[in-house]
Amino acid sequence: MNREWLEAQLAELPLYQYEFIRTQELSFSQRVRYVCETECPMYGKSWACPPAVGTVEACKEKCLSYPYALMISTITEVEDIANIEMTLATRADHEAITRKVHALVRTQSDQTMALSTEACAICAHCTYPNAPCRHPEHMYPCVESHGILVTDLAERYNIDFLAGGNLVTWFSLIFYR
Ligand code: SF4
Repeated sequence: MNREWLEAQLAELPLYQYEFIRTQELSFSQRVRYVCETECPMYGKSWACPPAVGTVEACKEKCLSYPYALMISTITEVEDIANIEMTLATRADHEAITRKVHALVRTQSDQTMALSTEACAICAHCTYPNAPCRHPEHMYPCVESHGILVTDLAERYNIDFLAGGNLVTWFSLIFYR
């Protein structure tokens, strides 16, 4: 991994923060999965979400099979953060940036995996559970779907999780080995 080159490329993107981490530092929790099950309307509706992504233990094993990850965050100001539609509309830009960063990491490693935000929105109607995912190579499950405690990671690296005001913060993790 040519980190110097990669950091020069990252500097060209509208990222808020980024950190190179060791995956051993990630915290996984069944509690995160419980929130998916009980609070997310996408639970059981997408290949990118639980239970399709596997148990937290299986997700943890998959994540830890990559020794390193690049954590990125973007930040966008909206008029009213309580307006869910307005807040979610900022996600598309973050996903586009995640794809760019993933492509950059891929130039340095041929074994990568990306986790991003919310449920996959590539198809208008997800095939789950009736047929295989149409774009498994492009589909990014969300970080939380794997039971990862983003708040813990953000605290550890002094990354602003809740920037405050009407600022929307999104996170992605790009794993590599
Ligand atoms: S790519 Fe399509 S089929 Fe696959 S998870 Fe996303 S929405 Fe579902």
